[in-house]
Amino acid sequence: MIVVMKQEASEGDVEHMVQRIESLGLKAHVIVGTERTVIAAVGDDRKTHKESLESGPGVASVMPILAPYKVASLELKREPTMIRAGSLSLGNGAVGVIAGPCSVETEEQLIKTAEAVKKAGATALRGGAFKPRTSPYSFQGLKEEGLRLLAAARDATGLAIVTEVVATEDVDLVARYADVLQVGARNMQNYRLLEAVGKTDRPVLLKRGPSATIDELLLAAEYILDAGNPNVMLCERGIRTFETHTRFTLPLATVVYLHSKTHLPVVVDPSHGTGHTYLVPKMAAASVAAGADGLIMEVHPDPENALSDGYQSMTFEQFDDTMRECRKVAEALGRKM
Ligand code: PEP
Ligand code: MN
Repeated sequence: MIVVMKQEASEGDVEHMVQRIESLGLKAHVIVGTERTVIAAVGDDRKTHKESLESGPGVASVMPILAPYKVASLELKREPTMIRAGSLSLGNGAVGVIAGPCSVETEEQLIKTAEAVKKAGATALRGGAFKPRTSPYSFQGLKEEGLRLLAAARDATGLAIVTEVVATEDVDLVARYADVLQVGARNMQNYRLLEAVGKTDRPVLLKRGPSATIDELLLAAEYILDAGNPNVMLCERGIRTFETHTRFTLPLATVVYLHSKTHLPVVVDPSHGTGHTYLVPKMAAASVAAGADGLIMEVHPDPENALSDGYQSMTFEQFDDTMRECRKVAEALGRKM
């Protein structure tokens, strides 16, 4: 349920309602908006009558939240959520660009890439240190050494670091080095991992599972929000369909749909979404045209010899050209990139 407070409600009124909600066995999430404060009362509310909250001090109205996801819903919070993590600003008109290699391989590879993507206009550096690979025989990442190299690249360029955490037991370690925690497609429904990243103070980039519905993506985000972390970015990275010409099928209607249902920002990954470098630049520009709040793209100094995902990674020059195209689209639509 949503408890909408009156404009003149005091902090004491809000605190009173939080306690009242908790005494009913529900969790209270306070959202202070520009016009009004609302409190989400979430949990099993089958036995709670809305009348029992309506008479509280400073309460304007009480409404059910119809969507299955509650804290993520636009019904609860109308203002778009903005993400700020070091150099990365994303959402509410600012298009953030996260770029870098699929995997961290060497110091030289990473620093060179960080410098090149920064020069081209990227606002954050990506790079996997813990890699979730389809085959156990593929390169699994440099692990903590990779995290150290990412931190060195941040020191060298000032770029915020986005990197994946694949297991609950690694969350504290990865959060010590990273500015943004990425939860990968394969882990979208790893609920213990979602709760663990929800307990950190790091923004989370949550990637859509290749066979997950949009509601499942939003409910996965809800786990992170419910654990207390309000800074979640949703990432469309392509889904599995009968089509085999592209690695995955990249549905850009997801961006528009999500913006009609949630205040959370939406990022598109045209690298994994297509699986072919030549398809990435146009799909990146199309994502911006569809209203994406951010892009995450793979860039490598020598894609042919990359240890992972070289076939979908751009060279520095291709990335620079892509950024130019995307910027034109963003500017035409009155957005900053
Ligand atoms: C990645 O970003 O390198 C990655 C593994 O992505 P996904 O989880 O979308 O497959
Ligand atoms: Mn990859």
